[in-house]
Amino acid sequence: MRKTIIAGNWKMYKTLKDGQELAVALRRDLYKIENTDIVICPPFTLLGFLADALESSNIAVGAQDLYWQEEGAFTGEVSPAMIKDAGCLYVIIGHSERRQFFDETNETVNKKIKAALKCGLIPIVCVGENLQEREADKTFKVIEEHINKGLADISASDMSKIIVAYEPVWAIGTGKTATPEQAQEVHKFIRGLLSKIYGQEAAEGIRIQYGGSVKPENITELMNKPDVDGALVGGASLKAESFAAIVTKASEVTK
Ligand code: PEP
Repeated sequence: MRKTIIAGNWKMYKTLKDGQELAVALRRDLYKIENTDIVICPPFTLLGFLADALESSNIAVGAQDLYWQEEGAFTGEVSPAMIKDAGCLYVIIGHSERRQFFDETNETVNKKIKAALKCGLIPIVCVGENLQEREADKTFKVIEEHINKGLADISASDMSKIIVAYEPVWAIGTGKTATPEQAQEVHKFIRGLLSKIYGQEAAEGIRIQYGGSVKPENITELMNKPDVDGALVGGASLKAESFAAIVTKASEVTK
């Protein structure tokens, strides 16, 4: 049985005051949930404050990116140890917006995953095709490259700590959700790839989230699919009401 994991990616939204209000509201609304891992990923400036605000709660904090070097003259970057020190447990790596706007590649994703693991952070590794690739029937090829290159030289024991997030780029922030069948098809494919690399038993234990316009209205049918183990939520994680509803509904799905 894989434990459900729902993570909220706040992207470049929320001042300290707004972020604190949201964290306090989520703590109040979600304190009873025990069977689901809950994560919020605010901007860097809020990490330490929100890790404090959520201490001893069932909500963990994650960063949205990191740099792979331990320290040094890398203006503007944040190291794994700094993120850990701020109270984070998770870090998103390889989000499509980083790939699209900030030159993230499978090679930099691989370096970041290794650096995160070395520091005891849990990577949430994003993979997914864009619209052009889907329409050209290249979805599986793109996913295969993201997995094979992004996870190159990661051991089976390290892989057991990693979360994979399947995020079709055409569904992110567009209101277009992949159908549960489309999500399941790719999740199953990803688990098959992981099984080839790490063996079936290990692959069965790896959690794969779906991301792309997840809302309270569609989470249950997505979660009902056998290989969907949770969600990475963007827009709907910015309001307590919608994020709490997504987490609560996901926690009610039994497989
Ligand atoms: C995301 O940012 O990872 C995401 C899935 O965004 P949205 O839910 O807004 O599509």
